[in-house]
Amino acid sequence: MSGPIYTRVALIGLGLIASSMAHAMRAGGLAGEIVGHAKSAETRATALEIGICDRVYATAAEAVAGADLVVLAVPVGAMAAIAEEIGPHLAAGTTVTDVGSVKQAVIAAVAPHVPASCHFIPGHPMAGTEYSGPRSGFATLYKNRWWLLTPDAQTDAAALLRLRGLLEALGAKVDSMDAAHHDLVLAVVSHTPHLIAYTMVGVADHLAQVSNSEVIQYSATGFRDFTRIAASDPVMWRDVFLTNKDAVLDVLGRFTEELFVLQRAIRMGDGDQLHDYFTRTRAIRRGIIEAGQDTSAPDFGRGPAGKPSDQA
Ligand code: NAP
Repeated sequence: MSGPIYTRVALIGLGLIASSMAHAMRAGGLAGEIVGHAKSAETRATALEIGICDRVYATAAEAVAGADLVVLAVPVGAMAAIAEEIGPHLAAGTTVTDVGSVKQAVIAAVAPHVPASCHFIPGHPMAGTEYSGPRSGFATLYKNRWWLLTPDAQTDAAALLRLRGLLEALGAKVDSMDAAHHDLVLAVVSHTPHLIAYTMVGVADHLAQVSNSEVIQYSATGFRDFTRIAASDPVMWRDVFLTNKDAVLDVLGRFTEELFVLQRAIRMGDGDQLHDYFTRTRAIRRGIIEAGQDTSAPDFGRGPAGKPSDQA
């Protein structure tokens, strides 16, 4: 067991991502104390009840006072106002990180409010579930999952090393990349697939209305996975699409072109083209399994004890 890496960690937002961090920090003895703030009194009371925070505060400004690590774990659209509120209350030397699913927009929203004496190191854990709120977190969420950081040339090396140490102690594999590159990669691997899942479930919902809910009754694994992804938090995903607009629209344009290619192959009865296409995509799936990002076990995305763990 490692000793505490930070003396006081302030979690701003106490939902799935923050509560999972808290559970893992508690399990590893990684934080001297954990304090927190969430918008509603109900969430703050729950955080105390389940023990993820030693103290909670009604304002973010109070919560960050005296912390040496501040984690912004609110929806992306809420980051700017929180950063503006906490800026004047951050102690010199404090590291501020975030867990937002989009990086360029969060950096634009947060960086101007972080004093020069502090270290802002943007981050994104590529782990999650379709569940939200403080009760949905669990200590192993980050085990063997990527946690991407997007430092820049000015980022303090010692502060970066210390944050990396914490994230690795949570079980994560840490990598650094440029923020714009992050947003494009995430548009491909997460954001656009979510949009497609939302759309497919919407289409099925229309069909269900003309087929007496057979779509639900007979829902097979592919569709069930779509419904699980499409159950993800509406506020979080609204903000993702509003703030990663350019990259998502770029990927969606390419997706639409490919879809038309396949649509035409089906219409023309071009089996060779379909077979070649599916052979290529099968190889990609094999690559993901070989990279340790999923198993070939047919659990259709549901992890142990019903805790799915493949969202980001
Ligand atoms: P969540 O479970 O819905 O929790 C969000 C938390 O933020 C709640 O405690 C909420 O408080 C609080 N909050 C919202 N607006 C606030 C405001 N204006 N001021 C203070 N607190 C506020 O969300 P989550 O899944 O943990 O996601 C948090 C962040 O992680 C998002 O930026 C998301 O993009 C990112 N992320 C999510 C996933 C995922 O799969 N879920 C994966 C990677 C990254 P109340 O409960 O009081 O409303």
